[in-house]
Amino acid sequence: MLLNDTERGSLSDDSTLVPAAATDTGCERELNEDRYAVIDCPSGVAWLVCDGMGGAPGGDLAAQIAIDSIRRDLQNYPPRDVETALRSAVQESNRVIVLRRQNPAFSQMGTTMVGALFSGPQLVIGNVGDSRAYLVRDGAIQQLTKDHTLVQELVDRGEIQAEDALSHPKAHVLVRAIGAEPTVNIDIDKFWIWPTGESAPGDFLVLCSDGLYSLVSETEIGAAVSEDTPQSACAKLVEIAKARGGFDNITLAVIPLNGELRREPPPGYDSEVELQKRLVALDGELPPAQARSFLRLVLTIFLLSGMAALLVVLLMVFSLSR
Ligand code: CA
Repeated sequence: MLLNDTERGSLSDDSTLVPAAATDTGCERELNEDRYAVIDCPSGVAWLVCDGMGGAPGGDLAAQIAIDSIRRDLQNYPPRDVETALRSAVQESNRVIVLRRQNPAFSQMGTTMVGALFSGPQLVIGNVGDSRAYLVRDGAIQQLTKDHTLVQELVDRGEIQAEDALSHPKAHVLVRAIGAEPTVNIDIDKFWIWPTGESAPGDFLVLCSDGLYSLVSETEIGAAVSEDTPQSACAKLVEIAKARGGFDNITLAVIPLNGELRREPPPGYDSEVELQKRLVALDGELPPAQARSFLRLVLTIFLLSGMAALLVVLLMVFSLSR
């Protein structure tokens, strides 16, 4: 589900609470290989940003395939634990891209992914590659994900300083991507949103591709997100990146959390109860994948009982004829 401007506006009168996203080809590339999506599914609501690679053709295809296969997986299953749901959907997108890479024209394609899956007060944030998730609280910004890049490994080993990573000649070399290997390792972190008072400003989650943070500083991202509505912050940050050359595609999503992000559940939180709530909310409606397996079961029982009846008849005929 992608919200257009009118739908976004109609969700709430208070535009500071309406999430927004933007994607832009930038100033130098011909193709936008970034994609973002909002997916409403039985397990919750997912926000995704993917940054495809592999050059033309392939980069934009990889990001689109990832979004489509993640959407399909999330929508086809009944409510699942958010971590299981996101992990399964990303593995599925990896499987599909690996399969499509067998076509020599697309042999180099792959994509990054940063995504958040929300269910009630719980959310998980997962990433593969160098697209990032940030937490913005009271104007301050904190990176929540770790890049899967060569330079991040050099930083971890103490060989280079974190502040030199982005200007390093190999700054954009990935060590992990969706589609690169038969299975993909996804980093997933669990969080909960704690309610804050009416007057207290809530936290914001920012998902973005490297086209944004390579040209716009984290301080600037934090300031724009705290000072503007998500929609104007998105527009403003894309414009800053473009004014500085916009050599890459630029994508970001700004999601108000209406509370405070923490790594532990609020008092009284029970994940089983939350899952049951989701099942009840679906009103007994069978999602497609479950409906299909149920149909298969009925057909199998029908077929087996038919064969058994035939066998009985044959045995009777055989014994009568003797
Ligand atoms: Ca990029």
